[in-house]
Amino acid sequence: MRQDVDETRRLLLLAGSVGVASTLYAGAPSAATAGGSPTPVDEGAVIGREVTFPPIDAPTDPPGNPPPNPDPPGQRVGFAVVGLGRLALQNILPAFAQSKHARLTGLVSGDPEKMRVIAAQYGVPREACCGYGEMARMRTNAAIQVVYVVLPNALHRDAVIQAAEAGKHVLCEKPMATSPDEAREMIEACRRADRKLMIAYRCQYELANRELVRRARGGELGDIQFVDAINTQDQGDPTQWRQIKNLSGGGSLPDVGLYCLNTTRALLGEEPIEVLARTHSPDRDARFREVEATVSFVLRFPSGIIANCVSSYSLHTQRNFRVLGSSANAEITNAFDYEGQKLIISRRDGNAEAKIELNLGAKNQFSLEMDHMAFCVRNDVEPRTPGEEGLQDQILMAAIYRSAQTGQAVRLEPVSRPDAFRGPALKEGST
Ligand code: NDP
Repeated sequence: MRQDVDETRRLLLLAGSVGVASTLYAGAPSAATAGGSPTPVDEGAVIGREVTFPPIDAPTDPPGNPPPNPDPPGQRVGFAVVGLGRLALQNILPAFAQSKHARLTGLVSGDPEKMRVIAAQYGVPREACCGYGEMARMRTNAAIQVVYVVLPNALHRDAVIQAAEAGKHVLCEKPMATSPDEAREMIEACRRADRKLMIAYRCQYELANRELVRRARGGELGDIQFVDAINTQDQGDPTQWRQIKNLSGGGSLPDVGLYCLNTTRALLGEEPIEVLARTHSPDRDARFREVEATVSFVLRFPSGIIANCVSSYSLHTQRNFRVLGSSANAEITNAFDYEGQKLIISRRDGNAEAKIELNLGAKNQFSLEMDHMAFCVRNDVEPRTPGEEGLQDQILMAAIYRSAQTGQAVRLEPVSRPDAFRGPALKEGST
């Protein structure tokens, strides 16, 4: 076998040496005439089932990404995606190509023709496709282990319950539901069926957000006292489900404001003890007959930290997250977007103010979160963002709306345990 590899290389090099390269560099010894087999540095090594390469850059340069070494397709955890809308087709299905442990094995849709087209594009067998009322059929399909619910918010509860009752683990898009009671029912259904439930808080798996949590919790910013989170966008078509309260549960708050809320909680590991909120919608705007445009809310934490959060459906897009500490500040630009995150740390350097911009490399957030779910299913571990994490956000969003309605601050039950609603911290290999 080894001999075959060397012979293949020798032939390749000989072919190369009579081509363009030998004309251009006549006189220079070719790799073939130099008798060169690749060095171990060029060839890499197979260790177990993985291929690795030693670094070729000097230690002063950052190392490149190692090969992903994905699981063979037949050994990955199978996912069925429920709801073939924009997020599913534009982001989630393409992300399976960059996933290491997850693969697409089923589809659920209310539109058979669209489902047929998508099934053909991604090679999903016809018998693994079904309509919303037929999810019980999945029970007998062992290739589907996880059901990923990507429906309008008010439809999450029924789909999650159906999936759990069909014996499947569930990954559910954010917001988890449209009320705390719905969220509780979903947790209970998964508990009864002994299935895992994870909420797709992709930012908690994204690299810049994770690095900020690590540095902030490690004390690099000093004493953190203030967080500023903004997530705004300008909505279009007023007939979309996001503007219909029965389907969305609310306006900008549960859709984009939730990122401000969840990212702040995940950073600090504390739970707010008070919220104070105001909402605003432009007058006579058909988009905001049922749901609010802008929500401004302040969260007060037991340590005294204050978070100032703003979400909007009627303001030009901005998605920034800032953390202010006594000895340094940090900012993630595009913090809540699908890509383009930069972590910037500002601190004193000698007599100057320094800004360090960290480029952590781009990894697909949807692949990371699906790989985490697959890891949890395989290793019987609780997800970092389980149903309880989603329920806590539902409780807080209900309090935010209550405060906006009454104009009063709303006090919340203190929670003393850090990361009280999260599963074990992410570690190497768990995404
Ligand atoms: P879309 O409107 O693009 O798609 C929703 C899909 O749900 C439809 O295409 C349809 O699929 C299905 N559906 C079933 N019943 C209804 C109904 N009554 N009204 C409308 N659609 C219905 O929504 P998105 O894909 O943008 O959002 C889906 C979920 O994903 C939401 O919970 C949203 O909050 C979340 N999301 C999360 C993001 C993230 O970054 N994590 C970003 C964007 C959204 P079919 O035709 O197959 O039945």
